[in-house]
Amino acid sequence: MMFSMPNHWQEELLLFLGTVLIASLAGTLAGQLLPCLLLGLLAYLGWHLYQLSQLPHLLGKTGQGGPRPVGLWKGIVRKVQDLQTSHHTDNRDISWQLDRFRDTVSTLPDAVIILDPSGGVDWSNPAAGNLLDVAWPDSQGRLLTALVPDPVLGEFLASGVFALPLVITSPANRAKILSVFITPLAHEANRLMLVARDITRQYYLDTARRDFVANVSHELRTPLTVISGLAEQLNMQTSDPATLSRSTELILQQAKRMSELVSDLLTLSRLEVQQKSPPDEHVPIAKLLATIVEEARTLSGAAQHVLHLELRSPDDIRGNAKELRTAFSNLVNNAIRHTPNQAEVTVRWQVDQAGAHFSVTDTGEGIAPRHIPRLTERLYRVDASHSRDTGGTGLGLAIVKHVLERHEAELEIISTVGRGSTFTCHFPSARVI
Ligand code: ADP
Repeated sequence: MMFSMPNHWQEELLLFLGTVLIASLAGTLAGQLLPCLLLGLLAYLGWHLYQLSQLPHLLGKTGQGGPRPVGLWKGIVRKVQDLQTSHHTDNRDISWQLDRFRDTVSTLPDAVIILDPSGGVDWSNPAAGNLLDVAWPDSQGRLLTALVPDPVLGEFLASGVFALPLVITSPANRAKILSVFITPLAHEANRLMLVARDITRQYYLDTARRDFVANVSHELRTPLTVISGLAEQLNMQTSDPATLSRSTELILQQAKRMSELVSDLLTLSRLEVQQKSPPDEHVPIAKLLATIVEEARTLSGAAQHVLHLELRSPDDIRGNAKELRTAFSNLVNNAIRHTPNQAEVTVRWQVDQAGAHFSVTDTGEGIAPRHIPRLTERLYRVDASHSRDTGGTGLGLAIVKHVLERHEAELEIISTVGRGSTFTCHFPSARVI
């Protein structure tokens, strides 16, 4: 195998030999070989010392400012410069990665806080300012328990047991509910990372769901109690035909109420499950409203409500006929049920620049303003016992609201206690045919 010498070593050798040769020649000519050789070697050594003294310039920021390195120094300078370049590249990479990490954490909607071993704030993202009132860098080094003086959070931090998240109200906005997770950092177990997430919507949905299940259970239990009580009486083999007939009638009445409630629950859940694909069939309004008013007359029966149908426009709309029929008849039936006998109920259809409008005006009991925003909540009633007596399930207006949402329409309720109410469905003009 051939030995190949690196360039800078060759150069160094030539330099050394050249110095020795010149010194020998000069020494021979002058008859002072040894002193001249010594002088030459001193010059060679001096030149190396000079190169060494220039090294800081050569390795400085610009890499300029000294003589061009020769021989061994060329190799050394090149090697160190290579190391410097790769070190700079690594530093740039690390700083880029750090910037990217900070950017990502900064745009997170969740609050992220890094806590030092004594519970002081080491770093936090902007969301920590919005959700927990912990603004960095002002909060740097300050105790989290002092910045967020929530005793529950303080106890949680002191306990050191973070298996389950903690639910607290946001100190920055009392209307917000936060779920707080704490976890030790993987590489620095004595430092903690706190993540707080806004779960307000989820929290209220869960509460509404729990209330709803409780309310539905209550609604179903009442008729069931009546039915089982009556059935027990019948079991005692009562022979009185009048009692028998009355009991059977009551059982049927309660069973009907339960069946109506279940049917409305199914309608509501069907509407909720359906995707937001707007129904698009041609709905013949005149025919639909005539049928609804006719059915309402039958519902009124002996109560003899005076029903008016005002068709102020021949226009129809695009939508789902079955859903619209359910919504409109719910409003007309409500008017009948919440209006005294022989009172007037007007069903109106009109179309203008803003769109199409279906309204039901009654001259009944009216609704106090404080109830109006809550009427479309499931099972919300102004007067529960009265509503049950008149055959209401408490789900009618919730169904109306869902049907209208699917048609990009809105429900408007105007009411005066003792004078009556008007429920209007406003459809966008894009739906008018
Ligand atoms: P319900 O089946 O009990 O009528 P709804 O969801 O249809 O349930 O209505 C909710 C509540 O709104 C009713 O219990 C009643 O108190 C009130 N309400 C609805 N329509 C009228 C109306 N036309 N006049 C007065 N109150 C009404």
